[in-house]
Amino acid sequence: REAEEKTVAIDKSQYKGVWVYVEQVDGHIRSVAHELIGEGRKLADAMGQELAGVLIGDNVENLAKDIFASGADKVYLVEGQEFKHYSTDAYTITLTDLINTYHPSVILMGATNDGRDLGPRVACRVGTGLTADCTNLGIDEATGLVAWTRPAFGGNIMATILCPEHRPQMGTVRPKVFKRPEQDFSRSGEIIRVSSKVKPEDIRTKLLEVIKVCTASCNLEEAEIIVSGGRGMCKPENFTLIEELATVLGGAVGASRAAVDAGWKPAIHQVGQTGKTVGPKIYFACGISGAIQHLAGMSSSDIVIAINKDPDAPIFKVADYGIVGDVLEVIPALIEEFKKI
Ligand code: FAD
Repeated sequence: REAEEKTVAIDKSQYKGVWVYVEQVDGHIRSVAHELIGEGRKLADAMGQELAGVLIGDNVENLAKDIFASGADKVYLVEGQEFKHYSTDAYTITLTDLINTYHPSVILMGATNDGRDLGPRVACRVGTGLTADCTNLGIDEATGLVAWTRPAFGGNIMATILCPEHRPQMGTVRPKVFKRPEQDFSRSGEIIRVSSKVKPEDIRTKLLEVIKVCTASCNLEEAEIIVSGGRGMCKPENFTLIEELATVLGGAVGASRAAVDAGWKPAIHQVGQTGKTVGPKIYFACGISGAIQHLAGMSSSDIVIAINKDPDAPIFKVADYGIVGDVLEVIPALIEEFKKI
């Protein structure tokens, strides 16, 4: 009801500009933020509006040049010690305040753990909707609104969603569905510094410790090479072959849902519709059949190399290179050859 009341009250013409929430961790901008700045640039140009990055953190002003280089015109910067690590309360209060003050028309966020936490809360507080986990963006010709596309009904249809009544139009977008733009460091822009309105009593959680479970081998979203294994690896011990090949190539380890469900790898490694969307330069699919839900997560890879003993496996339809053979013979041979390079 609160959202409906706000709808009646808002004047949509007040809402202008495309914003990208620039997620940073430990002072490093996540790749998805650059991907969204690239895509946001296209939307802003099509709408004839400005593109701004929203940067919240502790001592992060030095990141603004990176945001301009990717294509933003402005950066809204909010700094403070309370933003050193992501905190639901501090970030929600801050982004909500920025929206209520500056009235952007569109907000893009990465569908990361933080983005998935922050986006819906902020959308609710400003009385708008949110299209989660988008895999494409465009402009609806008839209305000029952002057309948010995402898989629905288990990936059987692609739903395109418009937000005609509320503002801002908000959505989270999966990492790696868009290419990272070329950066131009001769670009610059305006930094709008905004003071934090977060009071200590607003923060209802206390961060005791940060335990990093993710090593390079599970940083799938940023990896340039991914070696993934499926049920065809036959048993969990054989996953050491996947890990060894990934190590030799300096890549990350992926897994199909069948391998994750069998308990061979933790869910953090899962690639696919209900796992991660990845876009490496090279993707090895080892003992993976190529189910549509798996392809949904890796089809934007530049080069796909499939190893499968079944020559009719669907994965070969999307593979650039296919090796018909037993993973337990082919992978050791590849490891041996790559070690020589
Ligand atoms: P299988 O389909 O069993 O394929 C195993 C392959 O290994 C076969 O092609 C076989 O020929 C080959 N093989 C067997 N032994 C060998 C050997 N010794 N050498 C070489 N090849 C061998 N799946 C995902 O991966 N990610 C998701 O995010 C995901 N989300 C889903 C969401 C929904 C709503 C649903 C319904 C399903 C989802 N799935 C997902 C599951 C998906 O449909 C498949 O069941 C799954 O991807 C199959 O995994 P797989 O290819 O490892 O196993």
